[in-house]
Amino acid sequence: MKEMILLKLGELVLKGLNRHYFEEQLMANARRRLKACGEFKVTTRQSITYVEPKNEDCDMDRAFEAMKKIFGAAGVCRCRACEKDKEAMLAAIQEFLAGDLAAAKTFKVECKRSDKTFPLNSIQLAQYLGGELDDLYPHLTAEMHHPDLTVYVEVRDDHAFVHGNTEPGAGGLPVGMAGRAVSLLSGGIDSPVASWMMAKRGLELDMVHFFSYPYTSEAAKEKVLELARILTPWTGRLVVHVVPFTAIQEELRRSCPEELFTILMRRFMMRISAQVAQRIGAGALVTGESLGQVASQTMEAMRCTGAVTDLPIFRPVVGMDKEEIVRISRKIGAFETSILPYEDCCTVFTPKHPRLKPTLAECVRAEEALDVEGLVKAAVDGIERVFIAAK
Ligand code: ATP
Ligand code: MG
Repeated sequence: MKEMILLKLGELVLKGLNRHYFEEQLMANARRRLKACGEFKVTTRQSITYVEPKNEDCDMDRAFEAMKKIFGAAGVCRCRACEKDKEAMLAAIQEFLAGDLAAAKTFKVECKRSDKTFPLNSIQLAQYLGGELDDLYPHLTAEMHHPDLTVYVEVRDDHAFVHGNTEPGAGGLPVGMAGRAVSLLSGGIDSPVASWMMAKRGLELDMVHFFSYPYTSEAAKEKVLELARILTPWTGRLVVHVVPFTAIQEELRRSCPEELFTILMRRFMMRISAQVAQRIGAGALVTGESLGQVASQTMEAMRCTGAVTDLPIFRPVVGMDKEEIVRISRKIGAFETSILPYEDCCTVFTPKHPRLKPTLAECVRAEEALDVEGLVKAAVDGIERVFIAAK
């Protein structure tokens, strides 16, 4: 084994049993994500997860990219294994960190020795390696507090390994640790970002998409499935529950006051999503609503939509400006797909003057004209489940 990957675990405030769940979940997610990159051994000791290739066939570049998207890891780095011999360590540092050593102006060496039989202790080893590097690279100055480059050396039982600065990891909590939720995924900018943010807090997601064929096209559905695919490096594989929504929209247009159309439609979305949640054992809903962004996202409107379910509704972008949401959308690579100009079911029948402050009483009254249960049941029965493999 020449090289491996280290994940430095985040959320260090977690203690006791939680800590154990955190590590187990993170390792399970890492193993699943690594399958496409070869055979790896994944272990955790003292808040570091070690990803070691079992043979030469492993694709380390791909594995490293995958590990940068594992929620729960605060930092990620590649490291080089070498003989447990101080000259070999020095040579490994010079070769493996050549670029970093050339770019840095200040440095320090930090050593950790889990093999207590190694003849030098951590401080002696750091002094030796630091002294040698100082001589070999005249442009480098030792700096203990905020060096440009920290050279890490760990002496383990079977070998030693060296690495440089860690790159930022994906942060958050391992997916699955917080349980399961249903995320309402439209083809827009906000809901993929909201989904990503809640996956980051450890939720395993199932997606629900409301599809209004033929008012919205097959291409619009493909776009949503593509958005789900874009999320899979972080979320893992996904199921998208595609709900036939046309009948409900047509019935609402026929039987309900136009200014309440959007809010009533959104109440149906919540009811159907709650049923999907019950089916799959999920405990919450996620939406990409942002306060005040459109008429259906006022406080009063959210009260009306939330009232149809007792599940918590997570709206992680509720307090964010569009610019902030777009920044995340770009970061996760969803933006270019989100802005493709396909129609969404919400834009198909948009009332000219939607009610900004609907009351629950008027929603309930308007729904008296409808067979709510029957409509929901028909939609749920018509769900098509699309499986999205991890990218
Ligand atoms: P987005 O950018 O996520 O489409 P939006 O600003 O267009 O959001 P709305 O269309 O009012 O806002 O939708 C608010 C939220 O309702 C979305 O973020 C999403 O969670 C959910 N939603 C809207 N349309 C659909 C749909 N067709 N399928 C699934 N969920 C939807
Ligand atoms: Mg939308």
